[in-house]
Amino acid sequence: MTRAIQVYPSVVKSDCETEITITSFDGLMLFYDDVEYKIQFVPMEEFDTELDPELRLHCEDNGRKTFCVKPQNGVIRVKYFFIGEQEWTIRIWSDDYQAHFNETATKWGWAWVNKVAERGRRATIYSVGQDLYERRPYKCDFHAHTNRSDGAQPPAVAAACYRRRGYDVLALTDHGIYNTASEIKADYDALKTSFELMTAEEVHNGYNGYFHMVSLGGSYGVSRIFREEPERVRAEVAELEKTVAVPEGLDKNEYLQRVWMYREIKKSGGLAVHVHPCWRTGDTYHCQTKVSRAIFANGLCDAFEIIGDNKAYDNNLQSMLFFEERAKGKKYSFIGATDCHDMFDEKGTFGRASTIVFADKNGILPAIYDNYSVAVESTYGEAPRVYGDYRMIKYALFLMRHYYPIRDSICFSQGDMMLEYFTGGAREELAELITKSESRLGKYDKEFFNGKI
Ligand SMILES: [Zn+2]
Ligand SMILES: [Zn+2]
Repeated sequence: MTRAIQVYPSVVKSDCETEITITSFDGLMLFYDDVEYKIQFVPMEEFDTELDPELRLHCEDNGRKTFCVKPQNGVIRVKYFFIGEQEWTIRIWSDDYQAHFNETATKWGWAWVNKVAERGRRATIYSVGQDLYERRPYKCDFHAHTNRSDGAQPPAVAAACYRRRGYDVLALTDHGIYNTASEIKADYDALKTSFELMTAEEVHNGYNGYFHMVSLGGSYGVSRIFREEPERVRAEVAELEKTVAVPEGLDKNEYLQRVWMYREIKKSGGLAVHVHPCWRTGDTYHCQTKVSRAIFANGLCDAFEIIGDNKAYDNNLQSMLFFEERAKGKKYSFIGATDCHDMFDEKGTFGRASTIVFADKNGILPAIYDNYSVAVESTYGEAPRVYGDYRMIKYALFLMRHYYPIRDSICFSQGDMMLEYFTGGAREELAELITKSESRLGKYDKEFFNGKI
């Protein structure tokens, strides 16, 4: 959807008929009730008409249906049966626009102005299968730090910055500190925004620990056990030695401690993310490649941070490692995260990565377990790159072009007000405005996704 030609809903269910509404803010082709417009629907990849026997380019298909419609109160309504899971171009033009030609343009010799309606404009719509149709996209960062560990901002400011950047879910994963978000939860609950702060921790085996594994949604912290109950960890790791086979070539102590850590995260109810294995720390990768392969092979994580706070070549390397291991059969989920330590550092990682999770009423974590996530790498000045299952990448790319630009602008103003709220602004008035912006957000989502949300 462009701003000039708006189509609602912009996402429809595939393989059924849906009525859509089209409005125009395009001054060169507005919708007048006394004008007839012509409309065609062109599927991106799965054709719904017989292929032209001449097989010409550009989908100039002779069999394509043309709808002749007149707007009512400036709104065009048309029904179409959208097949398959794909993007569609909607072509709209009119040979009947003469009554609304711009006479000034004719006088001044701007002939092209009055040819626009005849040439037409384009809009976009997307049809998705039942499962994705019933899910809503959530833009998440599952890895970020605050000044409760080595980050630069306090949790409330960090959270407001994330909302400002269009995120729906934030996991504050302070080093070895469980659930930093809890200290600001009451304030967020009072604000009645849909922005979600997830319980999380970046788990380490003690201070400055070698292991880094993000735990999402756990009911208790695991680093604390490493730090405060070393005897217990030692004893339980020794017990593991009796039942767990250490893969050949791996350090026994490291491997068994990793097994213990993963099992403890699972006991806490957390989802374990293997993070930044190819991050160059000092002169080595953070995690030996053979250890990462053993983690994949033996199910010692639930998801993988394919894009993280790394240099491009480190992300490149670890993403190929991930694809290689995933091809062996275990469908680990895709996570893109910033590992951000400073939300005001313009040259830093803030906003440069995210995970889009397609979640239903069961929430974010079950959707990740079910593989409904894609990782997004958003390098400054470059087009975003999306990693995940092909059908979800396609859908996410559509959303990034047509859904997020407007939504991000609403989130920006909401996040801005949150920032002011947490840094000394007039709380009562701001809380009211935040509630209003939340209802705008809800209205936009509802229109975009056919009232499903
Ligand atoms: Zn880390
Ligand atoms: Zn981190």
